[in-house]
Amino acid sequence: MAPIIGVLGMQGDIREHVEFLKNMDVGVTIVKLPKHLETIDALIIPGGESTTIWKLMKITGLDVSLKEKIEQGLPVYGTCAGMIVLAKEIENFPAQETLGAIDIKVKRNAFGRQVDSFEADLEIKYIDGKPFRGVFIRAPLITSYGKDVEILSEYDGKPVMARQKNILVSSFHPELTNDSRVHEFFLKMV
Ligand code: GLN
Repeated sequence: MAPIIGVLGMQGDIREHVEFLKNMDVGVTIVKLPKHLETIDALIIPGGESTTIWKLMKITGLDVSLKEKIEQGLPVYGTCAGMIVLAKEIENFPAQETLGAIDIKVKRNAFGRQVDSFEADLEIKYIDGKPFRGVFIRAPLITSYGKDVEILSEYDGKPVMARQKNILVSSFHPELTNDSRVHEFFLKMV
């Protein structure tokens, strides 16, 4: 049976992820409340504004219930703000709360103002063929990581995609391309 992929429906590019997944061989549902976690096989945390996403997660109780689900092994993929929400530490906003699910330190808006948004061709480990077009929008960067974290892609010598057990993160937005290889890679983790 096709897996059911949840998209965390707090704030951000929720619809883009849902539309993208509709073209794949999966079921899709939006997760707005803790009880919705019971119906999914994996979760995507979209890009958006990480403090807003977190605030809404706290209001709904998803901060606690998702943490539990992740500890039980739920596969989760965070893009951009989703990566920030999953990170253990935020270098330039140390007081910002997160799920702390992956042992990485990130820097928000790491690419500076002039280059808030850009695209770049990326080599991604385990993804063959032509380079992957990475879309970066006020993107975060991984500035340090623990020994259990595997770096899957770098831009300009800096890590922009990583995995640790059931957690996958990327600084960029594959849902804004026509290329499903990163989503397919995540589905293999499900
Ligand atoms: N700049 C946003 C943040 O820090 C992330 C941007 C994005 O998700 N595209 O939360």
